[in-house]
Amino acid sequence: MAKYDWLIVGAGFTGAVLAERIASQLGQKVLVVDRRDHIAGNAYDYRGPLGILVHKYGPHIFHTNSKMVWNYLSRFTQWMPYFHKVVGSVDGQFVPIPFNINSIEMTFPQGMAQRLCEELVETYGFGKKIPIMKLRETDAPNMRYIADYVYDKVFKNYTFKQWNLRPEDLDPMVTARVPFFISRDDRYFQDTYQAMPREGYTRLFERMLDHENIHVSLETEYKHAVESNPDARVVFTGPIDEFFDYQFGALPYRSLRFEMRQEPDQWAQPVGTVNYPNEFDFTRITELKHLTRDRADGTLLIEEYPEAYVAGKNEPYYPVPTPDTSKMLKPYQELAGSLSGKVWFAGRLGDYAYYNMDQACGRALALFEKQIVPAIR
Ligand code: FAD
Ligand code: UDP
Repeated sequence: MAKYDWLIVGAGFTGAVLAERIASQLGQKVLVVDRRDHIAGNAYDYRGPLGILVHKYGPHIFHTNSKMVWNYLSRFTQWMPYFHKVVGSVDGQFVPIPFNINSIEMTFPQGMAQRLCEELVETYGFGKKIPIMKLRETDAPNMRYIADYVYDKVFKNYTFKQWNLRPEDLDPMVTARVPFFISRDDRYFQDTYQAMPREGYTRLFERMLDHENIHVSLETEYKHAVESNPDARVVFTGPIDEFFDYQFGALPYRSLRFEMRQEPDQWAQPVGTVNYPNEFDFTRITELKHLTRDRADGTLLIEEYPEAYVAGKNEPYYPVPTPDTSKMLKPYQELAGSLSGKVWFAGRLGDYAYYNMDQACGRALALFEKQIVPAIR
């Protein structure tokens, strides 16, 4: 008899949620493999210098509007409320990002700021969020002025650093993640639920995977695991093009290099993250203590340096959403469809989709209910 009913490739949010569901709700045996030497995928954290919790793959802030995802994850962790704030270094001062009414008042002389804000409120409405590329479509001179200003000072160079592409070359959803906000709310997200797992992400994953039907094998490649489990059904959360040996060409990904710095000060910056659209080679600096609430004599900072993805050298952190990649993805998705009932693809890399953590969880929960449960009946 086969030892495992399921082989789940990847111990990130997508893989862990599906393993937990299949093990606990269907009572089937699951082998979770990951090529890395730890669970939790890109959400992995560990105790680093000064006893501060380090997010190995860059700062991860949990936020969601999905009550279902929130309730589900709350079985595996308690939470610390946390509202992430970001400022951008623009012409020598730190202004709130997303750019909002407070940012306008800090940037322009009083009378001008007032006129711009009044017109924004009249045209779009207080509390509205307008993607920068949408705001730039306006013909109204004042609105066009502020749109171009924010595009030039906040988006143009940051986006080029991050993606090596111009904002207009990307799917508009990318820059729409940080829309112009006609508000005085300086938080980076406005979701209903915003918090950090009290004991960190890795602990959350340990609890999720702690089930008698789940076995985790680290530093294990899919290709190796499938040889010993040829009959198991597969959930693949790695890169979809890699699964199919790049037969329709390699999809592009964007990578990052993280540099961690320790400083003796209690605090190095006023908020969790400072974005540097126009200076330096990094895009942003995050001070972890803001996120983790650790107390320490000193502080840790993470700088993010975007770089090209090179297979085997660095990690494919971001799919690159453009019209070209969505075309390239199609034949892979068709091939994936032809394996339905035997192999399922999901996650940021399996779907080649720019998911946040809650979206990866939501996708995994939906896949379980809509496809996996019916398939085994
Ligand atoms: P992953 O976490 O990437 O897990 C996939 C796993 O599969 C990896 O561990 C990989 O090693 C393994 N794998 C791949 N191929 C193979 C193979 N062939 N064999 C074995 N194992 C394999 N989201 C938020 O909600 N808030 C944030 O603040 C946030 N910040 C982010 C910051 C950065 C810098 C990055 C890169 C992402 C951020 N995210 C954030 C997004 C978040 O990381 C993802 O939504 C989430 O990790 C996706 O989970 P996943 O399981 O789909 O993929
Ligand atoms: N962005 C920008 N300037 C900023 C913040 C964001 O140009 O100050 C653009 C950039 O293209 C970035 C995208 O908006 O990649 C999404 O930003 P987000 O902070 O959501 O990126 P992530 O946290 O996923 O790296």
